[in-house]
Amino acid sequence: MNEIINEIDDPVLMDQIEKIVPFHGYLSTGAFIGLQMLNLARELLDIKEDERIFVTCETQNCLPDPFQILRGCTIGNKGLNIVDHGKMAVTINKAAVPGETFVKGVRIVLDPGKTVKYPIFHAWYMNEAKVSHEDAIRELIKAGNDVYSWYFIDVPVPIKSKKKVAICSSCGESFVQEDEGNICKGCK
Ligand SMILES: [Zn+2]
Repeated sequence: MNEIINEIDDPVLMDQIEKIVPFHGYLSTGAFIGLQMLNLARELLDIKEDERIFVTCETQNCLPDPFQILRGCTIGNKGLNIVDHGKMAVTINKAAVPGETFVKGVRIVLDPGKTVKYPIFHAWYMNEAKVSHEDAIRELIKAGNDVYSWYFIDVPVPIKSKKKVAICSSCGESFVQEDEGNICKGCK
């Protein structure tokens, strides 16, 4: 893996990778895909360095980590949402301006119709052959944005509803009520 890292001559990409490796554990192909998607979205949406972004990842494997470490998008701060469709895809948007009900976002997909031009990487993607992370990432560096497809979408801004807290009639613990029921989800 170090070999590949030495081949990278873009200092910004290098710096990003140096932050991802200790966080994720190593540079996995999925984490590198997430990184490329993040950098592509920065261009497409003109995201500034200090701007807050929101991301929905369609897999929980590897892909979310670059967004967590480089952009501070976490599950706890609602910057990261995972809708696990088992897909190499993300939707990214900036914060809404107060009063806005929709905000412009972009959905980026690792496109098998495009990865097919990079046979080693395509074999990794389709799980058709055992391909090392080194070989897969080397092809991704070569391909750049050439393997991604994207389209802009209007992302609905979530409406904040008032939080209702109740005491569960079964366990006696307090919980956030989602409907009128007085029994917590754990007891149901
Ligand atoms: Zn309970």
